Amino acid sequence: EWILHKDEFIQEDELKISKEDRGYQFGDGIYEVIRVYNGNLYTAKEHIDRFYASAEKVKIVVPYTKDVFHKLMYDLVEKNEINNGQVYVQITRGSYVRQHQFPADSSPVVVGYTKTVERPVELMRNGARAKFIEDMRWLRCDIKSLNLLGNVLAKQEAYEDGCYEAVLHRGEIITEGSSSNMYGIKDGVLYTHPATNLILDGITRRTILGLCEEVGITVQETSMTKVQALKMDEFFMSSTTAEIIPLTELDGFKIGNGERGPLTEKLQQAFEAKLNLGVEV
Ligand code: PMP
Repeated sequence: EWILHKDEFIQEDELKISKEDRGYQFGDGIYEVIRVYNGNLYTAKEHIDRFYASAEKVKIVVPYTKDVFHKLMYDLVEKNEINNGQVYVQITRGSYVRQHQFPADSSPVVVGYTKTVERPVELMRNGARAKFIEDMRWLRCDIKSLNLLGNVLAKQEAYEDGCYEAVLHRGEIITEGSSSNMYGIKDGVLYTHPATNLILDGITRRTILGLCEEVGITVQETSMTKVQALKMDEFFMSSTTAEIIPLTELDGFKIGNGERGPLTEKLQQAFEAKLNLGVEV
């Protein structure tokens, strides 16, 4: 398997990361996950733009142009012969003697690798359970930061309670999932948290909002309270790897009739039609 290290392709056993890499010590870096369908990078431009935007927000300069970066991602997928899968790519501020302030001189370290991933078709059809968990993360959730401890602890708590995802809330307000965005549908209107500093503006989220317009679902980028969420007709989550997964049970309460709702299904079909894979979920 080939790995991207800075601007070179190397084999996994050749990869050397410093003990003082700031990603390793501080989570001082950002990342992206890009989906690969039929050998193509899906919504690559959006992911690459967000990679550069996240880097800029934490004052890391990506050492090549977006075009070069795109080609590196494409070559990685091709070299590893990935048909359906994903690319994970991160950039850290590099390595330096451990100190919190930025190093006087260090060069950023990019690492990218691929893996084959199946679409979670079973969950997409049958839905999953989720659990409310207090959102204890920082106030810059718009950055796709390597600091994921708040997300990791929330997901683990959900898993330990037999749930697939944590529905994060600040006080009464639902923000997003531990690794996804959240949506409720009530009387034909779709509600989701606005793209502020409190959530990651998911690429799948943007795709879904576009699809709502195409299929005639009214969108309100307005946050929901926990009480409102429990009264929704339908509830679902989205992410690059999960696509659209219905959440049929929240905190032990059934949403609607406890099955995938008709508008969720309509959005899944519209999403899939764009992928052009020739399979039905
Ligand atoms: N929010 C968080 C916290 C996430 O980690 C993710 C997944 N990367 C998302 C939302 C969904 O974003 P996307 O659709 O771009 O994968």
